[in-house]
Amino acid sequence: MAYDSENVFAKILRGELPCDKVYETDHALAFKDIQPQAPVHILVIPKGPYVSMDDFSENASDAEISEFFRVVGQVARDAGVVETGYRMLANHGDDGRQEVPHFHVHVFGGCDLGGMVRRVSA
Ligand code: 5GP
Repeated sequence: MAYDSENVFAKILRGELPCDKVYETDHALAFKDIQPQAPVHILVIPKGPYVSMDDFSENASDAEISEFFRVVGQVARDAGVVETGYRMLANHGDDGRQEVPHFHVHVFGGCDLGGMVRRVSA
């Protein structure tokens, strides 16, 4: 799948749409989800044009990958959810119901997040 430079996260990175930024490095940006599903719901995105986890894991540089996951850990620490617990999640493709085609990790926390996955059919 080719990268769509008109996706909402690309527009946020270009400054064409606002975001509630919580952390930024050379290779990654973290901001609050516009429709939070938990008291803490932060999105971490790479600044490079990667469609998904599949694209990012195959094509990003070691520097981008290591910095990205350090940012995920940092925003969880900054949000104060390390002691109480949190969940990181990345949706990929149709079965994963990925809505925005720019790789991102969700960081959820601040409450009991319930079971991991509710299987809806065989
Ligand atoms: P996905 O289903 O692709 O894993 O999740 C996309 C997430 O992006 C959703 O949780 C949605 O609420 C969030 N989102 C979509 N558009 C915007 C936006 O313009 N700003 C922010 N901050 N979050 C957005």
